[in-house]
Amino acid sequence: MNDLEHMRRACGHVLAEAIVSLFPDAKLGPGPSVEDGFSYDFELPRRLTPADLRTIEERMAGIVKRDAPLVLSVMPRDEARRLFAERGQPYKVALIDDLDADLVRIYRQSDFVDLWSGPLVASTREIGAFKLLNVTDAPWRDDPNRPLLQRVHGTAFPTQGELAAHVARLEEAARRDHRRLGRELDLFSFSDEVGPGLVLWHPNGGRIITAIETYWRDVHERAGYEPVFTPNIGRGRLWETSGHLQFFQESMFPGMAVDGHEYYVKPMSCPFHIQIYKSSVRSYRDLPIRLGELTNVYRYERAGVLHGLLRARGFKQDDAHIFCRPDQAFAEVLGVIDLTLQILGAFGFSDYRVFLSTRPQKALGAAEQWHLAEDALRRALDARHLPYEVDAGGGAFYGPKIDLKIRDALGRYWQCMTIQFDFNLPERFDVSYVAEDGREHRPYMLHRAILGSMERFIGVLIEHYAGAFPVWLAPVQARLIPIADRHTAFCEQIRQRLVDAGIRADLDARSQRVSYRIREAQLQKIPYMLIVGDRELDAGMVAVRLRTGEDLGPRSIDAVLGLIRQIIDSRAQHLV
Ligand code: ZN
Repeated sequence: MNDLEHMRRACGHVLAEAIVSLFPDAKLGPGPSVEDGFSYDFELPRRLTPADLRTIEERMAGIVKRDAPLVLSVMPRDEARRLFAERGQPYKVALIDDLDADLVRIYRQSDFVDLWSGPLVASTREIGAFKLLNVTDAPWRDDPNRPLLQRVHGTAFPTQGELAAHVARLEEAARRDHRRLGRELDLFSFSDEVGPGLVLWHPNGGRIITAIETYWRDVHERAGYEPVFTPNIGRGRLWETSGHLQFFQESMFPGMAVDGHEYYVKPMSCPFHIQIYKSSVRSYRDLPIRLGELTNVYRYERAGVLHGLLRARGFKQDDAHIFCRPDQAFAEVLGVIDLTLQILGAFGFSDYRVFLSTRPQKALGAAEQWHLAEDALRRALDARHLPYEVDAGGGAFYGPKIDLKIRDALGRYWQCMTIQFDFNLPERFDVSYVAEDGREHRPYMLHRAILGSMERFIGVLIEHYAGAFPVWLAPVQARLIPIADRHTAFCEQIRQRLVDAGIRADLDARSQRVSYRIREAQLQKIPYMLIVGDRELDAGMVAVRLRTGEDLGPRSIDAVLGLIRQIIDSRAQHLV
């Protein structure tokens, strides 16, 4: 922890003191560490309101001004237990019971005491600028039988200027929140009837997915991937062999009995693709084999961690598995990296962080396999001049991997591509090919996803573009707006011409004023508005307005069609 974190932690203590002074019966829970700030869980007699947060902040400012030293005392566990029991703090007592230490560290500021195992700033006076942000529910130890605690989130910085900049960033993130934009742009929803974490894609969202899938299939075909389709459920025996039931079961939905056999909804597609590989004898000449699929997988996530599209219980994975000979491993990794840069580039991402995770202490597979695989991953990254950080020993027990994160418009990083070698599943499923020596050998197997989860990726896209997608992804690319009823038939003709040219175009012939309909199309972030009045009708033209507010004036239908087509085909970020 650095000085800033010590200060934020101390700010949490000051928050707790302020709460106790306002609510003498408050029970103090843990203060979980958070990025860029602090948080603290409380059991309180009532729900905190935004007005409460302002009152608490004022109380905190008073405590900071008091310049109270934060005094550490180290005491035996029993003594600490007694101290918090006397103060009516059962959660603190439970936290002490959890500690694996004979001595407990207690910090005191004036009459207030709190538990904390690390260092803090010396005095409340050293706390800089802070702000309380919001209150969320916090389950106590995931126990559904206990009342939810209230988690107060705050942020703190050394100076007022840094705090203001951070709060502005948070407001921008809230403005771009994909759940809010998902509603406003009518992209997707969730339904309690269907279940939490299960996304319902509306037509507008469906159009984005279709655009992405069409592109994905096209570039994969060119890159030598073969399309496969596999079921959503498979027998327990399969997941037994794959090891999922042993190592991954808590992330799987419970099984269901069919004809006396247990079946499971798939959390991954790997065992299915292996069955396809194994459906015939493979020779060294057949390799590499690249099987790709866009498919739904389901994973159990606790309700508390679900977060819109970014963390769902069902999602579409752009999954592929590559089976190759050892001498092909480097070229295959390089191929995946090139495909990744091409695909992510098409979505407007070019700033990456790359991580290479290498062999852990406990690992399956021979040392020379690991060496070859790690070498292939390294050389491929070097060949494309991609700087990377090495997580030495951080690989899975069954193989090394590369992870790639993309940087979005707000400077946040999101995990996307993974290339993972696997020395485990080929053994478990006895996967082989006949080599030049006429004998059976194990192929190298690579799992790879480039977008990761389609749901999550679109969630990131929504926030990255604040809903104003590049034209090739926009659910509706052009909207025809007739000024009066007598212009509608001509608009409909133009709309059909655009649709025939593969452009997603619709028509807004409602009776509202033109300015209202233009404003609405702009709010829907529709790139092009094509307006037809008497003048345009006579000249056989349309007046072109952009979602940015720019007015391109009258253009011929051919010119507009050519412009939109060219912007779509080049996957440009701009509109003209
Ligand atoms: Zn896989």
